Amino acid sequence: MRTDYDVAVVGGGLLGSAIAWGLGRLGKRVAVLDEGDITKRASRANFALVWVQSKGLGMPAYTVWTVHASQAWGRLALELKQQTGLDVALQQNGGFHLTLGDDEFGQRTELVKRMHNQTGAADYKMEMLSASEVKKSLPLIGPEVSGGSYCPLDGHVNSLRTFRAFHTGFRAFGIDYFPERPVSAISKSGGEFRLATPKGELRAAKIVLAAGNANQTLAPMVGLYAPMGPTRGQIVVTERTMPFLPHPLTTIRQTDEGTVMIGDSKEDELDDRALKHSISAVMTDRAQRMFPHLSRLNVVRSWAGIRVMPQDGFPIYDQSETHPGAFVACCHSGVTLASNHAFEIARMVAQGALEPELVGAFSASRFGGAGAANNSGY
Ligand SMILES: Cc1cc2nc3c(=O)[nH]c(=O)nc-3n(C[C@H](O)[C@H](O)[C@H](O)COP(=O)(O)OP(=O)(O)OC[C@H]3O[C@@H](n4cnc5c(N)ncnc54)[C@H](O)[C@@H]3O)c2cc1C
Repeated sequence: MRTDYDVAVVGGGLLGSAIAWGLGRLGKRVAVLDEGDITKRASRANFALVWVQSKGLGMPAYTVWTVHASQAWGRLALELKQQTGLDVALQQNGGFHLTLGDDEFGQRTELVKRMHNQTGAADYKMEMLSASEVKKSLPLIGPEVSGGSYCPLDGHVNSLRTFRAFHTGFRAFGIDYFPERPVSAISKSGGEFRLATPKGELRAAKIVLAAGNANQTLAPMVGLYAPMGPTRGQIVVTERTMPFLPHPLTTIRQTDEGTVMIGDSKEDELDDRALKHSISAVMTDRAQRMFPHLSRLNVVRSWAGIRVMPQDGFPIYDQSETHPGAFVACCHSGVTLASNHAFEIARMVAQGALEPELVGAFSASRFGGAGAANNSGY
């Protein structure tokens, strides 16, 4: 392994890949160290929304950060296409959260009010629509749909293709990707970080810990803190069907290939192998009540994934005081925030310091006090 890297990124999931790609784009010499292919990765299990509405209740800075990401996503998709030829199928023409029955409509209306009443949050024009207003955009909704919320900044993408595009981009930028190199220890001496792996030591001037839930154990090695409380989510995928859903929903989206993805369960359990059919049944039942014609489709696959979930649901970006040059990055919504990671976080790491005005609110120092309510949403 080469030892003369500007930055070593620990973790090759969506966060590590976006940050490494962004650093390569700035001309930095970058190494990405990752575990083996069979490890749990949120980046291969997600629902792929680029989602703004309902983000940031309890932390207005997160709303601002998410809106910033949504607005930068087009540029990211374009740069990836120009560099790799891969179209990540970004669609950003607004998204819905549909409600079934009056109670759900009332609860959603209350949430929208609370979001709008927050001071300091970006205005992203989330609004409640009646069932007849929703029907103008989504003509196939069923009679139980009572309405829903809509936000024009919401969208979705092909997240696996995005992941692949970042890795394809690594080659063009000369980034070294090292799979099968789980980092077990980190030290700093002679102005360099030394990362211990089963295949030898790698040295770099700076490090970014982007190892998902493993950040919890890696961060303290360099004086950082990343408290996590991971949750599990299940997703059901149908066979391909005619285009019927021109906008993604929080819980249903139609991919560019025609399949319908149904998702957004949240469980405390951390086993991503055992699928719970009771959960799939609830999700598919709700989906069919929203769009009755879905009952004619076959389910072709289903999976569970473990989210990377900081303790209060909001991102953690921090830099070490005891080990200058060490950074940590972890969050839920790593698809949505990929543009921020590629452009903003990479730029700050390259410059050597996080900018408080952009990401100061996300320092783990906030866990010294009471955490905000868990409200990450998608
Ligand atoms: C069911 C589900 C639905 C989701 N839906 C959405 C959505 O719609 N929109 C959205 O924006 N986000 C969504 N997410 C969240 C999103 O997928 C994650 O935020 C994102 O994938 C996190 O990426 P990551 O790189 O931090 O973590 P991971 O993908 O978990 O990657 C971490 C990487 O670190 C590596 N690693 C771990 N330990 C070490 C070590 N010691 N040394 C080296 N490497 C190590 C692992 O092998 C892995 O490759 C969803 C997640 C799930 C599970």
